[in-house]
Parts: sequence; structure tokens; C-alpha cells
Amino acid sequence: MRKDSGRVRRDRILNRARKKRAAQGSSPSSSPLQGEGKKDARSKHKRGRVFLVGAGPGASDLITIRGADVLGRADVVVYDNLVSPELLQLAPPKAELIYAGKRGGSEKNIEQTALNAILIEQARKGRVVVRLKGGDPFIFGRGGEEAEALARAHIEFEVVPGVTSAIAGPAFAGIPLTHRGHGSFVALVTGHEDESKGASAVPWNELVAAAHHGGTIVILMATARMRATLDRIRAAGLPDETPAVEVQWATTAAQRTVSATLASLADVSAREGIGAPAVIVVGELAGMREHLKWVERTPLFGRTVVVTRARAAASDFATTLRRLGAEVVEFPTIETAPPRSYTALDRAIKRIDSFDWIIFTSAMGVESFVERLKSRGGDIRALGDASIAAIGPATAARLADYALQVAAVPDEYRAEEIVSAIGIKQIRGKRFLIPRAEVAREALPEILRDKGAKEVVVAPAYRTVKPKGAQIGRMRELIASEKIDLVTFTSSSTVTNFCELLGVPAKGIRAAAIGPITAATAEERGLEVVVKPRKYTIEALTEAIREYYAAANGST
Ligand code: SAH
Repeated sequence: MRKDSGRVRRDRILNRARKKRAAQGSSPSSSPLQGEGKKDARSKHKRGRVFLVGAGPGASDLITIRGADVLGRADVVVYDNLVSPELLQLAPPKAELIYAGKRGGSEKNIEQTALNAILIEQARKGRVVVRLKGGDPFIFGRGGEEAEALARAHIEFEVVPGVTSAIAGPAFAGIPLTHRGHGSFVALVTGHEDESKGASAVPWNELVAAAHHGGTIVILMATARMRATLDRIRAAGLPDETPAVEVQWATTAAQRTVSATLASLADVSAREGIGAPAVIVVGELAGMREHLKWVERTPLFGRTVVVTRARAAASDFATTLRRLGAEVVEFPTIETAPPRSYTALDRAIKRIDSFDWIIFTSAMGVESFVERLKSRGGDIRALGDASIAAIGPATAARLADYALQVAAVPDEYRAEEIVSAIGIKQIRGKRFLIPRAEVAREALPEILRDKGAKEVVVAPAYRTVKPKGAQIGRMRELIASEKIDLVTFTSSSTVTNFCELLGVPAKGIRAAAIGPITAATAEERGLEVVVKPRKYTIEALTEAIREYYAAANGST
């Protein structure tokens, strides 16, 4: 009876949500956020909304695009213990972060009630609430209960599914959960039930009977009662030698996997010290790991690498490192801001057609120069006959975005390289403009003057500052617990700011430095620079990191 009225109410809420969306003209296939932020003309109050979002199993790039999008619009994020802290950086800086502190299965009812109350209260304030849950919100995470509470309170909600650890764990262990001819069903079960306190809700006998015909059983919340659970499966008649695999911290740098049999897994796991969070896979297909294990073979598997460059510039680098198997912690140590004074740049822009060469030393230099030109009502055609040089491929690529032809691109940042790329004849008697960061090395202007340039104007176009809101506490903790394998530095200022932000000695931390100057700054600060690429580019740095760990893996 109560169930029925609950369902009726739920339907009414869903219908109302549908009608509202239809009235806003959004089709079912359009973004769930369409109309978000726009004031609902018919309602006096801004309507809050809760998104139950699956954060994925651990790796920060295993959230869905929709999940990331919703997070980026959150006013409040209520997140669980198993959610990657990296993901919280996707929320707007002003978003309120509330730690729900749950760890699968162990939470008390009262906490769940309080949590539901928080979601409801926040939504009633008209806020966009993201309830960020590990894996998929509707697989063993009590997401169903949260949704019910929201429905009861007439709070609009949406569910953004996530990659559950029940799927990702086996995938990262090299176990297909189904396989033509060998496995035609999968059961996701909880290992957290205590049967001594009553009949089991998991029909083990039936599951095992089915597993005899090639099914796979995936057990979550498996560790605390692991032996009892596996014994229960054996008692139901699955042969002792059935392959069984346990994966802990799947998809993260801490991933550990052990392969055994149904009879031996509990002992092997205890011996290896594997604990929560872990999933267990039982069934013939678990044996395929021996042929299909892949993650352990990625060059940076098990390594946690910190990327310190500015967030805007970091993402390609971070993505490449992740592709190589690393867990990446983004800890931006620089952010760009307008220069303290635009006088020099504005003066240069006014007489821009008098320069023979414009040299850009960073993509940010290109961006801030063009932005300033635009804001002064300038026109890109004013660059007229000036030739353009870009230091490095990333800078050249940004110029290409503005359809600016580059006459010279040395492929690394060294003043001598620039001179030879431009050609000595092109320097003598010529006028140069270098729009760049407020504080930068003097080598380039000096060498140009040295080679007979008629005029060299250095115009600050931006300045780098320490970012506000860096996750300093988290970084200190990661370093203290020796979870960081390598910190990457792409300029001296990333080193200086990293050390200053941390505020504790950086002694002994292993570093990768893009070039000799960055390396020297790092060494002065007591870091151990173990990776120094031959060329001073991000690509070369990435390759050098790969080689460093390939050598380390080979020698162990
Ligand atoms: N909703 C989550 C599960 C929550 S219950 C999901 O879909 O993944 C918590 C259990 O999930 C843990 O006890 C463990 O069994 C499993 N788990 C979560 N993250 C995991 C990970 N990275 N590796 C292995 N198991 C994980």
C-alpha cells in the first residue's frame, strides 16, 4: 500500500518534470541541463535540482562527459570517500564541497538520513546540487535510497550513470565479463551480507547453478566477509578450482590484482595484504586474465605523476600521461593574469607596422597579445609585413589558430636556436617585438641586440601568478604518504611556485624538468631531478618520462 502510493507520487513528479521540460522546448534527446540557469518565468523561486552523478571507479577520466558537464555547473557537490579528489577540481571554484565520508556498505542509516536531508535542504535553496558517488550511483551505493528521498520531498533530480567498479575492475584486470560461448550472464552481488543474522538476500544456490553453465559472478564490498562469501559459493557446489580474481583500487595507481582459485583466493589475498576497496570475480572467465592482462603492461602503470603547469595548458600533457597508464594529479602552480602595466604593449601595438619581426615565446603570449590588440580596437591585418617567429610547436599552433603564418619555428626554447632559425641576416638592422610574460629571461633580447638588431622591444603581455584555491593540503598529504612518484615542471616558475605553495621542504621529491634552467631551479630547491629530456618540449619530456620508467620497470 505504502509502496504503491510512493510509486504514484514518483510518477507524478516525473510527469511534472517532463511537462516542464516540454514547456521549455527541450526535446528528450537534448542536454539535461538545457534551460538550467534560466529563470523559470512561472515560478517565483529558483528551483533547485539534484544530480545523482556516477564519478566512475577511481581514475578521474572515467567519469562521463555528461557527469563532468554537470559538475562544472554545480553550486554544491556532496561527494563520497571513493570519489577521485581530482574530479572536485571540475566544480566551479565557488562551489561548496561537502564530504559525505561514506565508504561502501559501512555507513549507518542515520548518516544516510542526514545526507538525504542535506540534499533536500540544498535543493530547496534553489541550488544545483551534484551528489557525486563512486562508480555508478545505482549500483550498491544507496543511490536508489537517495533518489527515493528526493522523490518523496518533490525535489527534481536526474541520474547520470557512471562506470561502475563492477565493470571497470574486471576490465582493468583483463577479464571479459561475458564471452561468446563461455559466459552468457553476469551477476553483480554484495559480499557484505551477514547471513548469520538471517536468510541471505543473495540466492547463492541459484547463482552457482547458473555459474555452472558459464556465468560470471562479480562481488562488491567483498573484503570484510570474503572467506565466508567464497565458502558459501563453494558450499553451493561451484568447484574449488574455479578461477577467482580480486582487484583492489581498480583504475588507480594503487591498483593491485591477485589471481587464484575459488578455494585459494582468501588465503592469497590475505598473504598479499589486499584490502578494501576491491571487487572479486568468480567464474571460468576470470581465468582469461592470464592472457588478457594489459594494464600492468602500460609504461606508467602504478605511477602517480603531478602536473604543475597552468590548468589551461595542462590538459594535453595530463591526458598523454594518463594514456601511458599513470594516475595524474593536476596541481597547477601558475595562473596567468594581466601584466601590471600595458603601457609598453599598447605603445608597441600603436606602431606595430614598424616592426620587422614579432617573436612569440609562448602560446599564452600569442593569446594575450591578440586579446589586447582586439580590446584596443585593433585589427590583425595591422601586423602587415612583420614576420612572425614562434618558439616551439605549441606557440606555432596557437598562431595558426589565428591564421597567422609563422616564418620561423625553432623547435626548442634556446636563444641560439632562435637566432639560427631566423637567420643572422634577418637580424642585423631589424626591429623586433617580443610580447611575453612580465618576468622572463633576458637571453633572447640580449642575443638579438648582440647580433646587430636595430631595436628590441620587450612588451609584457601577461604575468604568471600563483593560483588561488590550490589543493595544498591534499598535495602535502600525498607527498607525506609517499604516494607521489614524480612531479613534472615545465618552467622555473612552476618549480618556485610549487615549493612556495607547499611551504614545506621539497627535499627528495623526484622531478622531471623540461630544460636545464628548470632543472637547475629544481635542484637548488632540493628536488631530485631524474628526468631531463634532450629537447625542451612537452613531447620530449613525455617521452623521457616514459623511457625513465621503462628502464626502471626493466631493472626490477
Ligand atoms: N556504486 C559503486 C559501488 C559502491 S559500494 C560502483 O558502482 O562502483 C563500494 C564497493 O565498490 C567497494 O566495497 C568495492 O567492492 C567496490 N569498489 C569501488 N571502487 C573500487 C575500485 N576502485 N576498485 C575495486 N573495487 C571498488
